[in-house]
This record gives sequence, structure tokens and C-alpha cells, in this order.
Amino acid sequence: MAKRRLAIARLWYEANSFSPLRTNLAAFQAREWVSGEAARAFYAGTATEIGGVLAVEPDHPDWEFHYLHCTAAPPGGLVEPAAFTSISQRILAGLNERKWDAVYLSLHGAMATIDNPTPELHLLKSVRSMIGAVPLGASFDLHAHLSAEMAALLDATSGYHTYPHIDMDAAAKRTLALLIAKVERRARPAIAVAKVPAIMPSFNMRTADGPMAELQELAGLWRRQRGMLDVTIYGGFAYGDSPFAGPSVVAVAEKDQKLAQRCANALAAEFLKRKQQFHVRLPRAADGLLQAMKAEGEGPAIVLDPADNPLSGGIGDTSGLFQALLDSKPPAGTVFAFFWDPPLVDMCHQLGAGVSFEAKLGGRIAPDFGAPVPIKAKVLKLTDGKFRNEGPYEHNLAVDVGRTVLLEAGNVRVIVTEGCQTPNDPAYFRLHGIDPKSVPLLCVKAKNHFRAAFADMARCLIDVDCPGPASAGLFHYKFNHAPQHIW
Ligand SMILES: [Zn+2]
Repeated sequence: MAKRRLAIARLWYEANSFSPLRTNLAAFQAREWVSGEAARAFYAGTATEIGGVLAVEPDHPDWEFHYLHCTAAPPGGLVEPAAFTSISQRILAGLNERKWDAVYLSLHGAMATIDNPTPELHLLKSVRSMIGAVPLGASFDLHAHLSAEMAALLDATSGYHTYPHIDMDAAAKRTLALLIAKVERRARPAIAVAKVPAIMPSFNMRTADGPMAELQELAGLWRRQRGMLDVTIYGGFAYGDSPFAGPSVVAVAEKDQKLAQRCANALAAEFLKRKQQFHVRLPRAADGLLQAMKAEGEGPAIVLDPADNPLSGGIGDTSGLFQALLDSKPPAGTVFAFFWDPPLVDMCHQLGAGVSFEAKLGGRIAPDFGAPVPIKAKVLKLTDGKFRNEGPYEHNLAVDVGRTVLLEAGNVRVIVTEGCQTPNDPAYFRLHGIDPKSVPLLCVKAKNHFRAAFADMARCLIDVDCPGPASAGLFHYKFNHAPQHIW
């Protein structure tokens, strides 16, 4: 018997509608831009969706796996329409090449372009109209904006169950298992969506503790019920302005649409009940730093500035935490990561290690979030910005943050990079000759994903509130697409 054919493609991007930046095609080409054998080599052994697909490929000897265009860019601002069109066309051209028995897409679910708040719906519609009734499956990030319109185009779906996201590969495996079961007539998935009418920030959305942990436990009870195939709770992305904004629950039941809808509705109601718990108040930077410096115990005291976390659409540019740090008389050996400043990195690479100079850090792109901070700096170390993740988040993935420089400014060592990416992995610090465990005070533009690798080694982890494009105070933002009653 001829083998069945599975097409695999990926378009993964999270858009912060309030970021002053725009994302072009080059951002996708720089991070992930592969197909065919190159995709196999790139994702093998990684804790990503395509890594998950590769891992289960040997379990399906009667299927051929075809890796079409796979791409992702680090989260940022709205995507330029031409970039989305170009990527969609590559995926569709790949699908157009032969007949398929199933199609799997690795999507994020909170992408937005300058002219389209729901490009993934658009892509799913285009794929559906090309492949007709061929079963289509898609997996999504926990912060996706799912909708009934999207689910109606799918035969199989699942999403991450963890935040920090350490089950990206498992989400793909769950989706593929449903999709293949559907093709092989072992399952008849019925998919239902329930929306939660609210916009929830993700500060308190970790799945290890707090309200999301309770919701995951309730979802687990539903998953074990007879007739249920999958349940995913989506938190939505608070800085993504979409008509589908807000959390959602997607339930998949064997043939039984009513059961799926009952499950989705019940969990969405539980989510809404906990609404207030998702709205947190964070300390000011000065107070958070003081608290960190007083903390007792082993390991680094860590202060996080989530308002400028690139994985939430931050721009590596706000200066609130850095200014407060300099004002707070930090201990020797303190590390600040990071500022995104390509011209400064270039200048330092020309100057060379050991040279001292005067510089301004931050406030380069959006001084409204904080003025540039003047410093006397010395170039300690220059790097090519390339490493491989050691921690559980996107484990083993090759990362390139562009060239970097480690500067010394008094007691503080500051990392400045050519690319704008969250420093979420210990290897990022080791690249700069820094053992994060031995740093007394570590200040980072990051949020919950950072905890995957650092929570266990930290003396304390404190989120602080600074001005920035991903601040805890959602009332700063004006939504145009999200339904008015939810924000
Ligand atoms: Zn996410």
C-alpha cells in the first residue's frame, strides 16, 4: 500500500499591537527559515513543535512526513503585510505541490499584521480552500487568541499546557495524534470553543502555581472523562489587539459536539471566576530592588522587568529599571541584561576590549518610556551572540542574538546586543563569561519564561513595574479591534 502523506508547516509569531516597532521578513529569516532536510536538521532534538513532530515520525512507518516551509520570528510589533503574504505564499506553494492525506500547521495564534488583526484565520481559510476536505490540524501557543471561526476550519487541535512553555513539542504530538487518528478512522474529533470575555495579563498565568494551575487541574479532570480527546486552556495575549482577544477554552470530544461545548463552557466559566487573580499589582523598581538586596539565601537575587520583555513585545530599550539600579547602590558583580542597541555594539566591536568611553543606554527608540541613561563604560567582552539553549525552555535550540558586548559601568556589568531577544537561558550569560549562579544581583528584561531555567537557582525572583510596551497596567492601552466590553 502506498504510504500516506503528511504536510508540515510552521508560522509562529506573537504580535504586541502597542509596540512602536514593526516586524519584517528579515526577522523571520534570521530566526527560523527552513524546509525539507534543513528543517529536520534544524529542529532535531529541540523542545519545539517541529522537534515534537520529528520525534514521533518513526512511530508512523506507513506515513511520509514532508517538511514544508517552517518559520518563526521572536515576538515583537505588528508584522509588515508583505512579510505575511510572502510566508503564506511559501506555505501554500508547498501544499500545492502534491496531494496530502493530512496537513499540520504549527501556529502561534496571536499574530497580527499592520492591516490584519487575525492573519492566522486568513491562512487557515486559504489552506482549507486549497486542500478541500483533507484533515487539517493546528497547534497553538498558550497565549493564542482562538475563535470558533478558526476551530471550524480544523479537524484536530491542541496547544501548550505549560507556562513557561516547556511542552511545545508535546502540543504538536497531541495535535498529530488526533489528526492521524482522524485520517486512520480511529477518532472523530468534535471541536468546541468558549471565549472568556476579558483581557487577562499573563503575569500571574504560570501553570505551576496560582489561578492557572487550578484551571489546568480542572482541565485535567475533564481530559480524563470518557469521550474527551483533548482540552486546552488559552490565556490570550494581553497586548494583542484582536477581535478574538481574551482567553478561550478549546475542547475536543469523540464525535460529541455537545460534550465538547459543555466542557469548554464550564472551564471558561471557571476562568472568568478567577479574573481578579490575574490582575496583579507589582512593586516599583526601587522597592523591588531594595527587597531583592535584602533577600537572604543562596543564589542570585533576580529582578525582572516584564514591561520590556521582548517575548511580550518589549523593545530592549526602556531605562526605568536600569536607572533605578544605578540609584540603588548595587553590589559589585551585579549584572543587567540587556539593552538592544546595534550601533553601540558596532562601535564597541570597533573599539575593542579594554577601552573606556562615555555612552547612553536605553531611551533610544521610545524615550517616552524612560530617558537615556549616561554612563562611563568599559568594554569587558565582545561576542558573536551565538549559543545553544541549555535550559528547559526551547531546550537545545540554536540562538543568535547578533553580536554583543559586555560593558562595565561601576559595579554593574551590562549586556548590550544587536538583536532584541529575551535573555531566558543560562547559556546567554555563560557566553559573556558570567555564571548566573554566582551573580549577587541579576536584573533582566524578562517575564515568566525566564523562570523555567532560573527559578530553582534564584534566592528570590521579583517582578517590578516600569514603564514599557508590555506593562502590567493594561489601562494604558487603547484597543481598536478587541470587543469593547472585554477591556
Ligand atoms: Zn506564549
